[in-house]
Amino acid sequence: MDLLDDSVVPEHARDVKQQAREFAAEHIEPNAEEYYRTGEYPWEILEAGMDAGLVAQDISEEYGGKGYDLEQILAIAEEFYKADAGIALTLQLASFGCEIVEQYGSEEQKEEYLRPVAENEQISGLAVSEPETGSDLAGMTTTAEKTDEGWVLNGEKYWIGNGVEADWVTVYAKTGDKEDRYSNYSMFIVETDTEGYEAEHIPEKMGMRASKQAHIVFDDCAVPEENLIGSEGGGFYMLADFFNHGRVVVGGHGLGMAAAAIEEAWAFVHDRSAFGRDVSEFQAVQHDLADMLIEFESARALNWRAAEKVAGHDNAGYWAALCKTKSTETAVQCAERGMQLHGGRSNLTDRRIARVYRDVRIPVIYEGTNAVQRNLIYRQRQ
Ligand SMILES: Cc1cc2nc3c(=O)[nH]c(=O)nc-3n(C[C@H](O)[C@H](O)[C@H](O)COP(=O)(O)OP(=O)(O)OC[C@H]3O[C@@H](n4cnc5c(N)ncnc54)[C@H](O)[C@@H]3O)c2cc1C
Repeated sequence: MDLLDDSVVPEHARDVKQQAREFAAEHIEPNAEEYYRTGEYPWEILEAGMDAGLVAQDISEEYGGKGYDLEQILAIAEEFYKADAGIALTLQLASFGCEIVEQYGSEEQKEEYLRPVAENEQISGLAVSEPETGSDLAGMTTTAEKTDEGWVLNGEKYWIGNGVEADWVTVYAKTGDKEDRYSNYSMFIVETDTEGYEAEHIPEKMGMRASKQAHIVFDDCAVPEENLIGSEGGGFYMLADFFNHGRVVVGGHGLGMAAAAIEEAWAFVHDRSAFGRDVSEFQAVQHDLADMLIEFESARALNWRAAEKVAGHDNAGYWAALCKTKSTETAVQCAERGMQLHGGRSNLTDRRIARVYRDVRIPVIYEGTNAVQRNLIYRQRQ
């Protein structure tokens, strides 16, 4: 059963999708259980992904990447997340801080910071969320104060992918106190070896254990003036635009995981007997599988439609929120059904279905919780 067939994928994204599929089968899937169990950072697989030209290639050719567009990145995401979400997140986040630099940064910033990531010599991160809030983007408290030499950052960030491993991170910080609370934030490039940047891994997670997030503390962390990205006060709007792309890709995380849950449940019920019959022969079981397929195919059609809308700047915020919500919740539903169909074996921690069940709890939260997405969907339709 090829759930991630390429008939909905635009022609130009099919080759890279196939490459991602082959890479995932060779490097991600066979190692997923071990990395989940040890919770170690999958450096070897990250390096293999770099060698295969599948990491950080959203950076444009001008700065050393392949310039993969949204649809190509979505195609890679579906394949990687089906193989394992934790390892996939690590591979995807290597360039997480780059898009904002590429969109809004100066020529010098792009040359200095994007090229080493595109050439796989460095990795980056994006630091937005804080210990006290991840949802209220205009309520964050990390500050950047202007001095004669540049900017001094103080505050904390939480949940930051690669906060320990990255060479530099793009940081969202408060630079103003205007009544219009959306104009008070700016973006900065911060090298992780700067004095006053301290990061430690957050405690062990339940899901996506092969990815690592950090608690970062900025304690009088001084960066030069030229590390401000774009214009002062423009940070909130840069993020809003960035999230439109990101949420289409997070929809792909959901699709990959939903496909994994269906595949796993399907195989299990066709290989197990009860009451002298194959479990898959019970109509109730067939209906469960049918429901999973209905949700999955609906989510996938929506997600690829949204990718086209967002790429074409056509009511992007609306479509991004729609598909992020639908695809990630489809993953939750499929994992839940898949667990039930596995009977008692669903509880064995080394089972793929149990890993997917734990992983699906994360994309309904990151890049804006699904409650926040519903706020956006409603507001943008008024
Ligand atoms: C594995 C993982 C990786 C992550 N990686 C990164 C990263 O690399 N960089 C980064 O910056 N962040 C990252 N995050 C953080 C993530 O984006 C936040 O966790 C998320 O935005 C939610 O913020 P919060 O956890 O502070 O929850 P809160 O904002 O405190 O929300 C708590 C609850 O309140 C609800 N809520 C809040 N506001 C509203 C509202 N207006 N309407 C309705 N309900 C509301 C939420 O839906 C949620 O149910 C990551 C998170 C995880 C789990």
